Amino acid sequence: MINQYKLLTPGPLTTSDTVKQEMLVDRCTWDDDYKAITQKIRKQLLMLANVSEEDYTTVLMQGSGTFGVESVLTSVVGEEDKILICSNGAYGERMVDICRHSKISYVHYEQTYDCMPDAEKIADILARDQSITHVSMVHSETTSGILNDIQSVGKVVKAAGRTFIVDAMSSFGGVEIPVADWGIDFLISSANKCIQGVPGFSFIICKKSKLMESKGKARSLSLDLYAQWECMNKDGKWRFTSPTHVVLAFSKAIDELLEEGGIAARSKRYYANNRLLIEKMKTLGFDTYIDQAHQGPIITTFFYPEGVSFQFDEFYHYIKERGYAIYPGKLTDVDTFRVGNIGEIYQEDIEKLIGIISDFMDMKKETNK
Ligand SMILES: *Cc1c(COP(=O)(O)O)cnc(C)c1O
Repeated sequence: MINQYKLLTPGPLTTSDTVKQEMLVDRCTWDDDYKAITQKIRKQLLMLANVSEEDYTTVLMQGSGTFGVESVLTSVVGEEDKILICSNGAYGERMVDICRHSKISYVHYEQTYDCMPDAEKIADILARDQSITHVSMVHSETTSGILNDIQSVGKVVKAAGRTFIVDAMSSFGGVEIPVADWGIDFLISSANKCIQGVPGFSFIICKKSKLMESKGKARSLSLDLYAQWECMNKDGKWRFTSPTHVVLAFSKAIDELLEEGGIAARSKRYYANNRLLIEKMKTLGFDTYIDQAHQGPIITTFFYPEGVSFQFDEFYHYIKERGYAIYPGKLTDVDTFRVGNIGEIYQEDIEKLIGIISDFMDMKKETNK
């Protein structure tokens, strides 16, 4: 048995034992009871997204979150279309990478990692370039932990009559997102983030009218969003083999999210975890990369502490041996590490972690003498 430790990472994250237990059953993919679970999940996700079944629909897609993003970009941005990608981190840049690979025509509005893409600037780009048909952006940029203002961007995208695509991978389920009110046409997230399921598929909340327009446009067979929907929408049967165990775990995870009190309650827990973490880390000499006003509640980037010799590897193993796994930094220009606070993580976990880090720092100061 490998050592047990909790994940303070942005997904896969620490799931409940009851979610894990769901995976002890094997299911038949064309069985009616199993297909009903897929349909139930698709309905529940629409409710969590604050949209009506009349205007929106859910597509589940095998693979990790990136497969979901790639599915949307390669399925809905047609040969004659052009997409504006607004980025301020690695996940925004990954959308650029997807477009390059699939030869999708794009414009890249690149912001530094500690700043949000600006809605006014986006409005300006759209006004100058009428050939842009779609706009895409990340909500919670997991690279830094910044929470981008997709509401303001959605407003200008809608005012300009373009299609809005949001990667809400690490925020959906963890913060309230009124998808219809904010003008989002395609929202992508995955099973192993704030819904607190295990890895294996992504899901896309789609504006129906926009999804219908994408019929026949896909550049990939297996990632064809429309074809996946067409099959799944009939009776809940996935087009190709579905990750049955993951689907069962996800269904349980949604039930547990609702039991916790829905997204509002979960969001409150995540924010409380996050604010406590930051406050305590500051007292130990760790500063955050993102300023408080833009810091999201999911994951936090901390600078290495000053005045002690600090190596991430040593720090990581010291903490892991005591029960928690943290994350390395993803910035290229400064030395940082990241701590996630989503999943089955509670105040006592944050307090324990702070105790461990405090001991580590005491040890470092001792050896520095
Ligand atoms: C996790 C994540 C993804 C998807 O990453 P995968 O490794 O493919 O699951 C995409 N965007 C953001 C913002 C993420 O946090």
